[in-house]
Amino acid sequence: MSSVDLELELTDVEREIQGTVHRFAENVMRPLGQQLDKLHDPQDVVAAGSPLWDAFDQYDELGIEEFQREDSDLTPIQMARIQAIICEEKGWGDAGLGLTLGSRGGGFVAGFAIATGSSELIERYATPGNREIGCWAITEPDHGSDTLTLSEPHFNDPGIKANCVASRDGDDYVIRGQKSSWVSNGPIATVAGLYCTIEGDRGFRGGGVAVVPLDLPGISRGKPLDKIGQRALCQGEIFFDEVRIPKEFMAVEQDGYADQLHSTLTFMNSFMGVTFTGVARSAFDLARAYAHERIQGGKPIIEHQSVKLRLFDMYRKVETASAYARKVSIFNNAGDAGQLHYAIAAKTYCTQVAFDVASSAVQMFGGNGLSREYPVEKIMRDARASMIEDGCNEVLSIVGAADL
Ligand SMILES: Cc1cc2nc3c(=O)[nH]c(=O)nc-3n(C[C@H](O)[C@H](O)[C@H](O)COP(=O)(O)OP(=O)(O)OC[C@H]3O[C@@H](n4cnc5c(N)ncnc54)[C@H](O)[C@@H]3O)c2cc1C
Repeated sequence: MSSVDLELELTDVEREIQGTVHRFAENVMRPLGQQLDKLHDPQDVVAAGSPLWDAFDQYDELGIEEFQREDSDLTPIQMARIQAIICEEKGWGDAGLGLTLGSRGGGFVAGFAIATGSSELIERYATPGNREIGCWAITEPDHGSDTLTLSEPHFNDPGIKANCVASRDGDDYVIRGQKSSWVSNGPIATVAGLYCTIEGDRGFRGGGVAVVPLDLPGISRGKPLDKIGQRALCQGEIFFDEVRIPKEFMAVEQDGYADQLHSTLTFMNSFMGVTFTGVARSAFDLARAYAHERIQGGKPIIEHQSVKLRLFDMYRKVETASAYARKVSIFNNAGDAGQLHYAIAAKTYCTQVAFDVASSAVQMFGGNGLSREYPVEKIMRDARASMIEDGCNEVLSIVGAADL
């Protein structure tokens, strides 16, 4: 029995999509993710000929994008249910690859392109079938957690000096500065959802969100970052040297920035919850199979009581994470009433569960768990990164608590 068998209410279409994405996760994502993880130089992950591009090509062929388009015939609830299923299965396949593939077609930047009303941006980034790659650029060299803690006093402090600032100049904005080496997809993205500070006296609260085509003059990138987990998801700096964009590319200006950041955190944390439930389930599935195969003391290790207890503890965590993350993801993505504290509870809980379950899987595998010949140590590293990714769990919890 697998953890998804409990879900009685999946429609035939949802089960079919789940099966399709699961097969893709098993046959394409998992082997390619393992290959990418073993590449020593992160530059090789994004180089021409890297398995990363095979993953994108095969993802494009899946055709699941139609279930996520703004102009879909599906109701918001139907779309939200399908998105939760897709994210969980992609997480089961490979966390880093799942997240990078989700940025195809501009990812979340497509919605901002539509909000600008610019036909140029809509045609390029929000037209079905486009092959652009998006990124979320918010973290700066001097600012990580403080860009996200919109509930804390520093968020309104005009004295805080941002590293990336947009200034109004006639009908344009001019962007100067840089985003940190932590921007996911930074080295390969073709468009950024740039969360920057707009010159003025309102601190981070006076920020803006711009759709920035990354082929504009004055933009350059850093080298891909070397890190311990999710190595298929590249990170890198983006530098802005007097980059000029028409003012309509600034999809959100000062008055709307805090609300927009609130919505972004709601949306992203909800997806992180379901994605890392999939990661936890992958570690559980591998540990369960191993417990039945590995013979010690003349019997499969599952017949030893402490192994049974460990496996059941993992199972319980995966099931509770799955039930909660799906519920939150569907609620928050199906309408306009998204609740940030639920999203943060899902992200922080499910990423912690993913790490705990993956760590238990390593223990279950014994010495083999520490070997790169076996898959579980990589899942543990992937899960570890998620507790910092898109906001450290403790910092997000402070933001979530402000809504209670
Ligand atoms: C895998 C991965 C993917 C990422 N993807 C992106 C991306 O796509 N785009 C992007 O812009 N960024 C991205 N990031 C960056 C990420 O959002 C930041 O790393 C995160 O917000 C933390 O910022 P920091 O690293 O500067 O740590 P800091 O903010 O310097 O925090 C350091 C420590 O201090 C603690 N701390 C800081 N402030 C407080 C506080 N007020 N209260 C309590 N504790 C506090 C933190 O919890 C942490 O333990 C990614 C990071 C990772 C790991």
